[in-house]
Amino acid sequence: MGDLAEGFVVPWNDTRVALPRHLYVHVPLCRSKCAYCDFYSEVDTGAPEHAAIVGHTVELLRGWLTPQVRWSPLETLYIGGGTPTVLGPHLVGLVRALTDVIPLASDAEVTIEANPESFSPKLAAALAAEGVTRASVGVQSLDDDALVRLGRCHDSAAARSAIRAAADAGLAVSVDLICGIPGVSAEAWERSLRGVVEAGATHVSVYPLTVEPNTPLARAIAIGEASMPDEDATVDSMNAAARILGSLGFGRYEVANYAMPGRRSRHNIAYWTGKPYMAVGGGAHGMVDGEQAHALGLAPDDRTDVGRIRFAYASHLLPGDQLQPLSSIETMTVAEAAREDAMLGMRMTDGISDALAEGANVIEALESLVTDGLVEHTDGRWRPTERGWLFGNEVFSRIWGVVE
Ligand code: SF4
Repeated sequence: MGDLAEGFVVPWNDTRVALPRHLYVHVPLCRSKCAYCDFYSEVDTGAPEHAAIVGHTVELLRGWLTPQVRWSPLETLYIGGGTPTVLGPHLVGLVRALTDVIPLASDAEVTIEANPESFSPKLAAALAAEGVTRASVGVQSLDDDALVRLGRCHDSAAARSAIRAAADAGLAVSVDLICGIPGVSAEAWERSLRGVVEAGATHVSVYPLTVEPNTPLARAIAIGEASMPDEDATVDSMNAAARILGSLGFGRYEVANYAMPGRRSRHNIAYWTGKPYMAVGGGAHGMVDGEQAHALGLAPDDRTDVGRIRFAYASHLLPGDQLQPLSSIETMTVAEAAREDAMLGMRMTDGISDALAEGANVIEALESLVTDGLVEHTDGRWRPTERGWLFGNEVFSRIWGVVE
């Protein structure tokens, strides 16, 4: 595996700007497309494409290493998708190649997203040997009928096997579940929650089923072949998840995320706490601070008030495309970046500090949310209430909508 960067030292006279210590890599391939999905991914065409994607992804990463910047060992690396595990053994090669370009810190968290149909004990063990520490398994449900309706290409037995394979390889296992699927009873939802934990999950993400435009699910609903998710049932499912996972020793630490002690996602916490992160791969999103943006040539030369820049790669990115084809670059002022930190921080149970709230100029918005029972203010921190979790969009939009 790539050398672990023990004893990494920056020379005192090195004036280059340090790159973010978090890296997201997008693998835009899936075995097939799920009925509800509007993420960018292409249907996998097999092994010849895999090596090319690995090479291209690594070239994209090298493309960021201009003379004006220096890397520091990565604290977190997250390879998502899409379905990274469709790369099979080439996924192991991707981890190695990426960490040859930018080494890992000795205690780095390295996550790969895995789907049951393309994950095996052998692949799990090979990834663990390469330095991967965590698998995020796309299970969505342990109800076989629901899996068919969602267009998933695996059944519940394969999902349980994938979780066990990851756990047996020594990986921390996160599982994604979808709540509010029409036709899934409260009992079946509880079986999914308990089932993934019994199989070895120590982190669970619970997302409501959303109907995105132009998906097979949206078309099926339009012609009466599928039902719209019921909002009340979805809320009941989210409340049941909090109760059942809580009884199994999981703590909620973000609006949709639950973890056993010591199993929170460090990579995702970086997103929610305003830490810059690099990204490579078709459709991937990254965020750098103002200094990094200038060093990377992403910030307009005449702008001095750049707080952060969010960038996204073009979709439909496969080998042969030009390097660094960013499809969007969004510039935020220092004040906007602070406000975004406040908004993102309110996704977490820890909430935000008085200092952050004051710096972001959102005290007035927070006080109105307290009045409405959506936020509480104790011990110098602002936190969402139970009701605030359910009306998250109201909380986020009022914080973001503050006019200076
Ligand atoms: S596996 Fe994930 S990314 Fe791929 S189509 Fe299904 S939901 Fe979308």
